Amino acid sequence: MKKHWPPYNFSAGPAMLPKQVMEQAQSEFTDWRGKGLSVLDFSHRGTDFTEIAEKAEADLRQLLNIPKNYRVLFAAGGASFQFAMVPMNCLRNRAVYVDTGIWGSKAIKEAKQFGQVDVVNALSERDGLQAILPESEWGIEQGFDYLHFTPNETIGGVEFSDAPVVGRGQLIADMSSNILSRKINVEDYAVIYAGAQKNIGPAGLTILIVRDDIIQQPAAQSAPSLMRYSTLAESGSMYNTPPTYSWYLAGLVFDWLIKQGGVDVMEQRANERSQKLYQFIDKRSFYANPIHPSARSRMNIPFTLADESLNARFLEQAEMAGLHYLKGHRSVGGMRASLYNAMPVAGVDALIEFMVEFERTHG
Ligand SMILES: *Cc1c(COP(=O)(O)O)cnc(C)c1O
Repeated sequence: MKKHWPPYNFSAGPAMLPKQVMEQAQSEFTDWRGKGLSVLDFSHRGTDFTEIAEKAEADLRQLLNIPKNYRVLFAAGGASFQFAMVPMNCLRNRAVYVDTGIWGSKAIKEAKQFGQVDVVNALSERDGLQAILPESEWGIEQGFDYLHFTPNETIGGVEFSDAPVVGRGQLIADMSSNILSRKINVEDYAVIYAGAQKNIGPAGLTILIVRDDIIQQPAAQSAPSLMRYSTLAESGSMYNTPPTYSWYLAGLVFDWLIKQGGVDVMEQRANERSQKLYQFIDKRSFYANPIHPSARSRMNIPFTLADESLNARFLEQAEMAGLHYLKGHRSVGGMRASLYNAMPVAGVDALIEFMVEFERTHG
């Protein structure tokens, strides 16, 4: 393949950051605003970092329209850490977990160690494709503490188009891979959590949005201090040293998002990017996507080649052409294009152009 594109990173996570954000971080790296010091070595309790931390929170509040009775917490440990923290803080009698893929299953496995978990296997088949079972068929028994779901299953490429109606106000969502990519009503949720490395930035940081009454209710007696939402809330996420540099980078991304036009614009772009790629794949018998249109992810698009023996060649040639990390998750195989907020539409155009050319030379 002759053509080469500016490198585009289709990784599912850690994923690409906006170029302007990286350039700003670079320009400030050794000298933040004439201070002569790097954010890396600011004290987390100093006035400079306090300013950075507060601006990041204020910007996120603006972007998601977060009501006053919700706290924003910045935690370490990644989204998987929340698989345990959620039940430690919120599971009293019984929780419902909606399973639509691998991340949901992992959350369920962890929650089961802490109490009664009713599992809804919500991945079903429709017209020979994978779909999300309609809520009317979930068979949920009322009276649960919370309903946990995964709005976007990063590995399978399955996304809810809206929050479930059942359990609104008591929803807990692992929004790791689609936060800030569409408007949400925060009041539908008791807790929202998201690992930062998909749509926000650096790995290892987790953003939490937790309603006050959840923070006030007692956590499991055996819960370590740092795993209690109340500890994080009371200390302003600074019970111990938080991941300061990641917090700063997340703040730069929030600032960038606001300047781009906020979540509305991100939603439009996500729709445009994903529709382009799905429409292309659907027109070709050379390529296929296994998800029903009603449940297709706008963020992660898995696809297969009709002739799987060409997989390795496809990936190798894509890499050479500047299109990186298109390999599907090891449990699914095939390819996966992750199209997060930082991916320009031009990246999808490049991928499609490459796919046309690959089919022409191998089809
Ligand atoms: C990536 C991902 C995780 C895991 O995040 P870690 O920060 O690695 O723990 C959990 N849930 C979803 C939906 C993800 O996409």
